[in-house]
Amino acid sequence: MLEAARQIVDAAERITCFSGAGLSAPSGVGTFRDPVGGWWTKHDPMRLASPQGFAEDPDLVMDWYAARRSQIGSADPNPAHRILAAREDIVQVTQNTDDLLLRAGCDSVIQVHGDIAADRCHGECGHIERIDLTDPPGRRPCPCGRAELRPDVVWFGEALDPDVWQQAEAACSNCDVLLVVGTDASVYPAAGLITLARHHGARIVVVNMNPSQASGIADVELIGSAAELLPALLA
Ligand SMILES: [Zn+2]
Repeated sequence: MLEAARQIVDAAERITCFSGAGLSAPSGVGTFRDPVGGWWTKHDPMRLASPQGFAEDPDLVMDWYAARRSQIGSADPNPAHRILAAREDIVQVTQNTDDLLLRAGCDSVIQVHGDIAADRCHGECGHIERIDLTDPPGRRPCPCGRAELRPDVVWFGEALDPDVWQQAEAACSNCDVLLVVGTDASVYPAAGLITLARHHGARIVVVNMNPSQASGIADVELIGSAAELLPALLA
């Protein structure tokens, strides 16, 4: 299967990689629904990552994000991030909010679910600021004075950024191979990018720890760790 995947990738002129939590899991970044210090088991995800949860208990939300940010800040890019960054011809679309592709050396990453390394105004004034993942900030007001700052990520019940989504759709419509890495393809609308690429004639190569909803649409599926399989596929 690896050889079949290599032939598809080597013949491609335009490759887009669509990645998810399985890309960063080998770096020790918990998948979104894994417990981070037991948080998911103690708290309903809707209370930690939704506008309603933020309204009800902003301290809880920001404490959870501080824990998650510290985990990401202390993690390092793994061989999968590094080989993707080394392949400058590959367009990066990711569901991950971490900065590991950027730290591995990618110039630009289309982050459809936002960027955990920034805070923005919850009042939509447009203010946004970078934060230090290794020293995450707590609650504080936006300079506009009308609302607090919050992580620049897409929460449950929130719409994706239309400009970012348009870039993601373009990247998946214009490739001849879509690499689907470390995602179960179960979160919509992001997972719809795979069918979009297929409709535009792309071959689909899936790399994931287990069979998933992406399996049925894959031309080739490689089961295993992205940190081991991607260097073998792309080097
Ligand atoms: Zn503001």
